[in-house]
Amino acid sequence: MTSCRGCGASGAEPVIDLGRQPLANAYLDEPALDRPEATYPLALVFCPRCSLVQISESVDPQLLFGDYRYLSSSSDAFVERARALATRLVDRYRLNASSQVYEIGSNDGYLLQHYRDLGIPVRGVEPAKAIARVATGRGVPTLSEFFSSAVARALRSDVGPADVIHANNVLAHVPDVHDVLRGIEILLADDGTLVVETPYVRNLVDGLEFDTIYHEHVYYYSLTSLAALWSASGLRIVDVERLPVHGGSLRVFGRKASSGGAQGPEVGALLADEVSAGIVGHAYYRSFAARVDALGVGLREMLVGLRKDGRRIAAYGAAAKGTVLLNAFGIGADLIDFVVDRNPMKQGLYMPGQHLPIRPVEDLLTEVPDVVLLLAWNVADEVVGQQEAYLRHGGRFLVPVPEPHFVG
Ligand code: ZN
Repeated sequence: MTSCRGCGASGAEPVIDLGRQPLANAYLDEPALDRPEATYPLALVFCPRCSLVQISESVDPQLLFGDYRYLSSSSDAFVERARALATRLVDRYRLNASSQVYEIGSNDGYLLQHYRDLGIPVRGVEPAKAIARVATGRGVPTLSEFFSSAVARALRSDVGPADVIHANNVLAHVPDVHDVLRGIEILLADDGTLVVETPYVRNLVDGLEFDTIYHEHVYYYSLTSLAALWSASGLRIVDVERLPVHGGSLRVFGRKASSGGAQGPEVGALLADEVSAGIVGHAYYRSFAARVDALGVGLREMLVGLRKDGRRIAAYGAAAKGTVLLNAFGIGADLIDFVVDRNPMKQGLYMPGQHLPIRPVEDLLTEVPDVVLLLAWNVADEVVGQQEAYLRHGGRFLVPVPEPHFVG
């Protein structure tokens, strides 16, 4: 990267450098363990002109998302949240059988299925072919493509303009975000609404959520940097909410800039808040890397101590953030026996980098490790609630961030 992907300015300043890392979702099968594993630089920088935090070198999206295995429906809480959102927006925008709702990065249809159940026509766009097939199989028609301005033009003429476009955890993922925003502007009806959810850079920094930094995440937005980007594509922020999901996200509502309409008071309030918190300047990010290093030292010491006392340790959540944490802190087979995950597509495979085996969640009850490192800390309440039986057997969960602590 030689200039900011958002505004084109040069002179990006460093935020954190995690060194060379494997792709966080590139799980290995057994034969692959003997082959060399590809690694890529993983570092974040800050643009002093538009305040956009971004990865210094991006990886071809085809490599990242073509064989994507994360199923949104594997979290009951996500599905319930999606249902509540669909119900609310159908009511708020008076959607009906002649409306059209799209989702970009629609995954397995976890969100659009709720609109469909309410009688609203839906169309998903999801580049991972296996996951798009799951969605279509459950009655959510899904185009398996990377969304772009060209795809938007085709959808607008074949399916129709959008009353609502959802893009959850998408704008952070696409290196050519300008073309995706152009496509959204093309696809939106004149009075249509864009609803975006994206992790909030403030939670990343304040909550030491460094394990949400991986190659799939090109951008780490503030409302300030998002507003600059949107206005360059003819889009305007009209409302914003803060969500607890993924360690802290923004839900941002937008419309075509040409459509006019009022802006909710929360938008101005949050923009002012970002200025007073210093998020728009590099100084805010300066201590982040050192604080992450200290967290790693503390967590490793804790795990080494447990191991010395003869404790058996497993980990929960073979997700990208787990890969990042294990590799960044060098936590491998000397400390952790295995990782469990609910997603059957991951079971039997191995974690990138540290090569820990991924096993079914039920193994917590047969093996009963003394401690489970909760890599999926973003769904801690849900996991701990589901694992009552393991806790009754004397197990404990160790949550790694923002500082290591036991639950259960
Ligand atoms: Zn910039």
